[in-house]
Amino acid sequence: MGCEMPQKPIVYDAPKPQPRANDAESLKSEILEKLTYAVGKDPIVARRTDWLTATTLAVRDRIIDQWMESTRDTWRNSKKRVYYLSLEFLIGRLLRDAISNMGLMDSVCEALKSFNVDIEELIEREPDAALGNGGLGRLAACFLESMSSIKVPAYGYGIRYVHGLFRQEMSEGWQVELPEDWLAHGNPWEFERRESAYEIGFGGHVEPVEQADGTVRQVWHPSEHVLAVAFDTPIVGWRGARVNTLRLWSAQPIDPILLDRFNSGDHIGALEESAKAEAITRVLYPADDSPAGQELRLRQEFFFSSASLQDIVRRHLQQYGDLGSLPDKVAIQLNDTHPAISIAEMMRILMDVQGLEWNEAWKLTKGTFAYTNHTLLPEALETWPVALVERMLPRQMQIVYAINAMVLEEAREKGLDNGQIASISLIDEAGGRRLRMGQLAFVGAHSVNGVSALHTELMKKTVFAELHKMYPERINNKTNGVTPRRWLLQCNPGLTKLIGDRIGGGFQDDVEQLIKLDAHAEDVGFQEQFAAVKLANKEALAHVIRERLGVVVDPHAMFDVQIKRIHEYKRQLLNIMEAVAQYNLIRAHPEKSWQPRVKIFSGKAAPSYWNAKLIIKLINDVARVVNTDPAVRGLLKIVFLPNYNVSLAEKIIPAADLSEQISTAGMEASGTGNMKFALNGALTIGTLDGANVEIRERVGPDNIAIFGLTADEVNELRAQNRSPRDVIERSVTLNQVIEAIAGGVFSPDDRERYRSLMDGLYEHDWFMVARDFDAYYAAQRQVDNYWADRKVWNTKVIHNTARVAWFSSDRTIRQYAEEIWKAL
Ligand SMILES: *Cc1c(COP(=O)(O)O)cnc(C)c1O
Repeated sequence: MGCEMPQKPIVYDAPKPQPRANDAESLKSEILEKLTYAVGKDPIVARRTDWLTATTLAVRDRIIDQWMESTRDTWRNSKKRVYYLSLEFLIGRLLRDAISNMGLMDSVCEALKSFNVDIEELIEREPDAALGNGGLGRLAACFLESMSSIKVPAYGYGIRYVHGLFRQEMSEGWQVELPEDWLAHGNPWEFERRESAYEIGFGGHVEPVEQADGTVRQVWHPSEHVLAVAFDTPIVGWRGARVNTLRLWSAQPIDPILLDRFNSGDHIGALEESAKAEAITRVLYPADDSPAGQELRLRQEFFFSSASLQDIVRRHLQQYGDLGSLPDKVAIQLNDTHPAISIAEMMRILMDVQGLEWNEAWKLTKGTFAYTNHTLLPEALETWPVALVERMLPRQMQIVYAINAMVLEEAREKGLDNGQIASISLIDEAGGRRLRMGQLAFVGAHSVNGVSALHTELMKKTVFAELHKMYPERINNKTNGVTPRRWLLQCNPGLTKLIGDRIGGGFQDDVEQLIKLDAHAEDVGFQEQFAAVKLANKEALAHVIRERLGVVVDPHAMFDVQIKRIHEYKRQLLNIMEAVAQYNLIRAHPEKSWQPRVKIFSGKAAPSYWNAKLIIKLINDVARVVNTDPAVRGLLKIVFLPNYNVSLAEKIIPAADLSEQISTAGMEASGTGNMKFALNGALTIGTLDGANVEIRERVGPDNIAIFGLTADEVNELRAQNRSPRDVIERSVTLNQVIEAIAGGVFSPDDRERYRSLMDGLYEHDWFMVARDFDAYYAAQRQVDNYWADRKVWNTKVIHNTARVAWFSSDRTIRQYAEEIWKAL
């Protein structure tokens, strides 16, 4: 017993290395060290990517010091942990965010300068982590940053896709999808945690096994196993307040089994199984707002849910030794229904693995889970064929049946009729039996939230009407937000400086102080400075447009911007049709004094979404004609910037004068692009949809251009199922636009190209493009009037920046933490 170790019960009192210094000299020597000893390059031959890696590693070290502190704090003070489960994290680049949040901008810049390396050039070289499609994934990324900034102990759990969202290129105006390769040069932010690996089962059968005490336990014998390996990325909050972990799972084969198969001569079989395992985390599904319905997608959902839950339960037991405290110490937020199978998987782990009985397991599960709904579009509500779930996840399906039986029994006791019961059932019996993930998430969670006031109210009336009657306390609203660090301080340094000069720097820590700008909205001197910052941002964007498209645009023209996923409900079609109307008018009345505009579009279409891709082609076709028509004299320019992603958004948004938020009312759950634009001093033209409603309440009706049908009116019109032919025939402007597009004015090479797209407007006009056209056109002319008097315009946009601080994701996260997670 000569070498017994002394008892060290408290892990967080372990020794720590000396924290890194933050001055330029220290950074200089450390970047050089990283370049030499971690990257293995001599500075005389180092390339820009080597410098990028070295700089990232040096910055990362400083974040790690804070990471350890944060983790120790959580353990030491037994803090509740929040787990945010999301199939998507659209985080974009991390270097600027990390440097800025750690307050290292000046010293890193100076350190790099001494090596003759431009920090901006490095930042621009980092690949975008595009592990998401659009708003839902970007929300998850903003939430992670806010949870660190306001010190909520949190983990993001998701998938480490080898290929994120496809890269978009244009070929003769058509979208072409190319594979995206963000890991090609390695990823210096992540830590592979081979020790945190879990086995994930699929298929097989369930066996009831009698226990010593006479009870029966279900044992799942999967026919297939895959290993989930954790990769951790530290997410640092503002001023390094806290560092949380984004843990992404990668699928790998379980080696020994395959080696056995390989060695026994089944070479192909072994390789196939290996490829099948890795396929789970190879690609992100590129569809926004419509489930792909493929078996591989369900495998992805279960894979990351199961790995995350095993990790959560393991960590909880390690600290507390007992699962009874799970709801007090753990909150799990489901970002949409993609991780909803977690409800059944948690029940399985609690009962079959941990030995709890049903009632106790159900109480713990419900106390721990909360669910966020993101869409009401019927085609986007996730369902899976029961037969598929039974085959892939037999034990989880048994549990779903048991949950359903329990819920339906309760419904009968409460006196619901058969129609109501059919509506709340987890199984949709109409047309092939399907498991409804929304219903599963709803009944298994103690909180169900929508993402804007309007969306939450519609949720109560539509998808979850009956469940809401049964559980009237469960639905609540948490209007989305965006992080003001990335979406103001980092992307718009000019405006940040101007605001600081005027109201002091306090707004950087307390964004609500932006309201102080309100008092300066009519100050002509301040207006001119505000406009000068905007002009500089527009000049920078004009440069990008010229480089990428070869199109020259005038920075003094109004920059009218619609950037988001291309979708019929978002109505890029309405926007480009308005452009055609303007084009016709300018040609017909060259003598009038037109307000010059640049219409800027950007966004990706799901590869299988034909109409969305056709709308991209239409935008490019109209752009070509308009931009080269001398009769237009540059008064109208149209550009489509390819490959929309977070980094491009960061360049475009600070340069926008007008923000297009024109979805068919009732269809956009919240929108977050709308918030980013308003924060950066753009005027919104929009419908009463999603968070636009609340933006109007805050900026005031004079400082936003609202038009069009309301959600209720859209609903009524759809119910009438009438053609809008009369509406179209009454509108001379609209008629001309449709005839020009349908007749091939913009597609002389294929005159029929847009015929059916335009015919659709006459038939059902599901998205109300024709019915909203005149109102939209009138609202645009009102916008022109505002623009014509620059003082009027500047007052309005300053009010926007001053009054939208409420849409900070810090506020959103505070509400989640206080009202749902009880974690502050
Ligand atoms: C903010 C953001 C979105 C969401 O935009 P919406 O206009 O709300 O649809 C989508 N993609 C990226 C890259 C974003 O930054």
